Amino acid sequence: MSFPCYEVNTGGRIPTGLSGGFFIYDADGDEEILFVETNVIKLYGCDDHDDFMAYTKGSFEGMVHPDDLSRVRNQILTQTNFGEKRHDYLRYRILTKQGKIRYIEDFGHLLHQEGGKRFFYVFIVDVDRNEFFNRARNSLPEAEILSSNNDVDPLTGLFTMPVFSHRVQMLLTAPENRRKESAFIHFDIPNFKLYNEKYGFDHGDELLCAVSEAIREIFEDGTISRFSDDHFVVHVFRTGNDVIRGVESICKKMLMSDDVSKKVRVKSGIFIPDDGFSDVGLACDHARLACNSIKNRHDTHYCIYDDMLRERLRKQQYVIDHIDEAIEKEYVKVFYQPVIRVKSGEICGYEALVRWMDPDAGMLSPADFIETLEQFRLIHVLDAYVIRKVCEDYRSLVLQNEPVVPVSINISRLDFGLCDIFGIVESTRKKYDVPRNMIDLEITESALNKDDSLIKQECDKMREMGYHIWIDDFGSGYSSLNTVTDFNFDVLKLDLVFLKSFDKNPKTASLMTCIVDCAASMGVTALCEGVEKKEHFEFLKKIGCVRAQGYYFGKPMPLEETRSFIRENG
Ligand code: C2E
Ligand code: CA
Ligand code: CA
Repeated sequence: MSFPCYEVNTGGRIPTGLSGGFFIYDADGDEEILFVETNVIKLYGCDDHDDFMAYTKGSFEGMVHPDDLSRVRNQILTQTNFGEKRHDYLRYRILTKQGKIRYIEDFGHLLHQEGGKRFFYVFIVDVDRNEFFNRARNSLPEAEILSSNNDVDPLTGLFTMPVFSHRVQMLLTAPENRRKESAFIHFDIPNFKLYNEKYGFDHGDELLCAVSEAIREIFEDGTISRFSDDHFVVHVFRTGNDVIRGVESICKKMLMSDDVSKKVRVKSGIFIPDDGFSDVGLACDHARLACNSIKNRHDTHYCIYDDMLRERLRKQQYVIDHIDEAIEKEYVKVFYQPVIRVKSGEICGYEALVRWMDPDAGMLSPADFIETLEQFRLIHVLDAYVIRKVCEDYRSLVLQNEPVVPVSINISRLDFGLCDIFGIVESTRKKYDVPRNMIDLEITESALNKDDSLIKQECDKMREMGYHIWIDDFGSGYSSLNTVTDFNFDVLKLDLVFLKSFDKNPKTASLMTCIVDCAASMGVTALCEGVEKKEHFEFLKKIGCVRAQGYYFGKPMPLEETRSFIRENG
């Protein structure tokens, strides 16, 4: 007897008119449907066997609602191929020929024929829509129990972390692979948690399946795993360039998705091990760090772990490890940069800007540590310290009968989530007996155009109490004019980019004139940053900009220097 063998004429009787039935399809290749009984044909709203085969294109793929297909495939794979058991149990939707959705419960069994052919014998039954929804929610844990297999992730059918690590470790140490080039790739969907909140967990799951499918398709020769949530890791024996091409096509595929809700920018980090490297855990970690390093970047979707990144991460680590000590020992200093009233040229305030004078690492500028502190959710520690130092400095000036002007303090958008930042401002101010009008609060524009009503409410509350709120960095990055109208504030700070472009582009002058006029008509004070030369200052005078700040008037300097500065400049 040769394989596969088929029997064409089946005997017996099948009851008709039931809302469930039986079919068989080839488990490999195109999932060709081999047998389908009339009850299933009717379930799909088809007239007869030919009609059904034409409608489904003769394949199991054509029987499942397209939106459920990737989940269904993964669940079947998880429960049968990867699982110990040979049966699967799941629910999905089907589309009838008339376009109606039906809710299906599916019991399948994978059977092997001698000779290696495999077939799915499946019984499906139409279930009530409500029951489907009530219970579909449980279908994942259920699938998990049914498959009772800890080697693969029940949602995507990919390997779990321990299995991945073990397999890759074996592959890397196999003598035939010793000299082969290989790479570790870490994939991440930025803001996946927000995605879940916005679209719901079911859609989140679908997205994870879509991403895992895209990865599978491109890196079919690799070992693929879902480590956790939205973190996928691949190991593959390929050259660096080939890996980059693969990573790019995955990113492109997701961005070009027909389904708007699945258009996401997948980020990836790549680690290419040297000869002789064999620690899988460390390799995965390097790939993850490379990926994390571009989380907030819009201009790139992959990053390779190299010496530059290693150095950057080392510096980051230094910042995280030493920030508490730097604050405690006061290596972190508050510098003050004068703000000038344009009409009179007099100092009308200072901006507090931090510097880190480290005995070992030398002087660190904010560019070296602010972003890191934000990334590691430590920025509020620094900002609370700056608030305290500014209040202390104010008190000591008053005690020495020195003149005082208001100081503006930079508040990070993240401070609002990390602590009660305005509560800290108020209590610190009280402790050092600083009047509220002596402290201004600078919040960057980008913090405000997120639909975050909390920050808006907090700012309104502070304004009612007598503080002034400034919008910082207006015009940098992705500006939204809505911020200006939606938000109540006192000072609009034009970013340095305006005067930088002013020198080159004549249109900038017109734009700045408009913004300054606009601020005036809204009753808001315009302040321009980055004044570096006389022409800048003259121009600001001409257009009626109220305040100015920049190296032309004075750089950020320690408190002691500001005193002599005031004596000299008034
Ligand atoms: P920022 O708030 O926009 O501060 C203005 C930056 O421009 C300062 O850089 C200042 O030194 C610089 N600058 C001032 N005048 C000129 C000029 O004429 N030309 C040029 N090219 N630059 C000028 P700095 O001090 O390095 O601070 C950089 C950023 O770090 C600040 O930007 C602010 O976003 C952040 N930062 C500084 N101190 C703090 C702080 O205490 N807390 C928080 N959260 N962020 C801070
Ligand atoms: Ca600022
Ligand atoms: Ca600024």
